Amino acid sequence: MNLPFPPWPLRPSRALFMLLGLFFASACAAAEIEIVASFSILGDLVREVGGERVTVHALIGPDQDAHIYEPRPSDARRAGRARLVVANGLGFDDWLPRLARSAGYKGAVVVASNGIRPLSMNDSGDRHAHDGSAERIDPHAWQDAGNVRIYIDNIAAALVAADPDGTDLYRANAARYRAALDALDASIRDAVARLPQERRKVVSSHDAFGYFARAYGLRFLAPAGVAGHTEPGARSVARLIAQLQREKAPAVFLENISDPRLIERIRSESGAATGGTLYSDALSSADGPAPTYLAMMRHNLATLMTALEAR
Ligand SMILES: [Zn+2]
Repeated sequence: MNLPFPPWPLRPSRALFMLLGLFFASACAAAEIEIVASFSILGDLVREVGGERVTVHALIGPDQDAHIYEPRPSDARRAGRARLVVANGLGFDDWLPRLARSAGYKGAVVVASNGIRPLSMNDSGDRHAHDGSAERIDPHAWQDAGNVRIYIDNIAAALVAADPDGTDLYRANAARYRAALDALDASIRDAVARLPQERRKVVSSHDAFGYFARAYGLRFLAPAGVAGHTEPGARSVARLIAQLQREKAPAVFLENISDPRLIERIRSESGAATGGTLYSDALSSADGPAPTYLAMMRHNLATLMTALEAR
């Protein structure tokens, strides 16, 4: 036998198989950890910590209103086969654990807001509950960047538990993101500190900014009823307009998830300026101004400051 060694045609094909093997191994590793989160903002946070080891699906997508979400059969299937299910908690998405369990999900449901100091709706007036419960905890805890630090810790701990091989990556991503949150938090405080006290008030369509108000010292007034997306009565709208005129509120703001007609009416009757669009419960699409949590908070801050600083 005097065949040339290695046989010439074998070499490239062996290399090709090795490349294909590597490709499939890395493709499988990348799609290994399937995670379902309830809504777009939470999905972004999970993606930041999970990096390339996870695939995240947010059931309530960009610009969608969590108040009126109805789970589809495809959402149940996704939740049922997920490796990890992440909820906001605080009554925002109580349907998610039920949906996942009914579809056969056996793992833990991570509640990202665990450990934050909850704000009662009654603490700051006429707030709405997403679940219609009597307790009325304000679910919009992500509007305070300090709370999102706790979200990130909870998400990182859950990812480490679900996928110990990724521990180093998850911890590094979480540390990097916490630094970005600290910078964001400081920039919001600096900006609000520049505003004179009498200009620190804001009108928006649904009452989603209680945590932002508590953390950063702005006052938010909103006309929406206690159920969030119900039409407020004529009398409460009239009362709000009178209050705006009395307090000389500088601007009213639209929200990406809300019908603009009511806020337009309040704006035209109160004489306040339109301040632009705030993102409260959902991110924008990828080509919009708020495709990530950090971009959303920076966009909201810039929008608020432009309107409130103007004379
Ligand atoms: Zn809301």
